[in-house]
Amino acid sequence: LPREKVCLIGSGNWGSVIAKIVAENVKALPDFDDEVRMWVFEEMVNGERLSKIINDKHENVKYLPNIKLPTNVIAHPTLLTAVEGATLLVFVIPHQFVKGTCDQIIGSVRSDARAISLIKGVDVSKAGLRLISDVIKENLNGMDVSVLMGANIANEVAEEKFCEATVGYRNEANGLLWQKVFNKPYFKIAAVEDVEGVELCGALKNVVAIAAGLVDGLKYGDNTKAAIIRIGLSEMRRFSKHFHSSVKDNTFFESCGVADVITTCFGGRNRKVAEAHVLTGKSFEELEKELLNGQKLQGTLTAREIFMILEPKGLTKEFPLFTQVYRICYEGLDPKAIINL
Ligand code: NAD
Ligand code: 13P
Ligand code: CA
Repeated sequence: LPREKVCLIGSGNWGSVIAKIVAENVKALPDFDDEVRMWVFEEMVNGERLSKIINDKHENVKYLPNIKLPTNVIAHPTLLTAVEGATLLVFVIPHQFVKGTCDQIIGSVRSDARAISLIKGVDVSKAGLRLISDVIKENLNGMDVSVLMGANIANEVAEEKFCEATVGYRNEANGLLWQKVFNKPYFKIAAVEDVEGVELCGALKNVVAIAAGLVDGLKYGDNTKAAIIRIGLSEMRRFSKHFHSSVKDNTFFESCGVADVITTCFGGRNRKVAEAHVLTGKSFEELEKELLNGQKLQGTLTAREIFMILEPKGLTKEFPLFTQVYRICYEGLDPKAIINL
């Protein structure tokens, strides 16, 4: 019987945790090849290539230090080599790099391959708003693309602290296959037939997290944070349903919805950098470099992308929180305006 073969496209903070989980699972599953290839966007770390360090030490010393990766994770600096022969592609890179990455593998993936996107973001172009999973699908010959989102701060999942995540699928058999690839006793996967709802939750909560960080920086307290979370969630639902009427209310009660908003508003990188913006007055770009050591912020870019969609449609008044985050990040509006909702 032909065996499934997994390739991971991405090796950042979350990508490395996912490599650990997937490699452990496929090793135990007889119908999966044990080898998991992981594409590494190559860089030098202390004078050595990161892909070589990962293969020698079984540790991503830059993006997930002090966590051992299983020895069946094999890092590859060349994307085309990494995807060769793969039947299952896991996309886990910051959303701004998706198009450039897909461009390189058009025509090189197997025609029977399926994909899943763990990427929290949206795509905005002249064509309007697109899901990242649709960008991947369009670039890769219409292959089936599921999504996985959830309340999953990477460093906590790396330490095997219990949490949940949500797979959104179009094709049920593929949804269940992905559930098998990712599920762990400490990483409990639910599968729902709502790709649009699950993916938009993952993307939009990053904007809410920026708002949460701003109010933390302003020392506004727990009631204010709760108000930001509530208003943010309701804008997430309004936005998702406005652009995709198929989105289900129940999706917002899954891990990808309310749970991810909560964890990101308390423990995420977007929150941390937004708080620092208020405390230091430095720009988001500068703080991303200073505080995240190569990891990437998604919330500021997403705020701009959705503003570019809302503004021409005259919809900014219906989304005051999303709009204020954009104006604070890109138009120099005083952070105190975050509570003018
Ligand atoms: P990260 O924030 O650690 O990003 C850094 C990665 O981007 C590195 O691997 C770096 O090599 C790579 N990179 C830099 N420039 C690149 C380029 N030009 N092309 C391609 N890659 C480039 O990444 P991450 O934490 O793995 O996040 C990936 C996705 O997963 C994001 O959408 C994020 O929102 C989501 N996510 C993250 C977490 C988390 O806690 N870190 C949890 C859940 C979901
Ligand atoms: P940050 O990117 O804000 O760290 O959020 C991580 C995340 O998506 C947790 O689920
Ligand atoms: Ca196996």
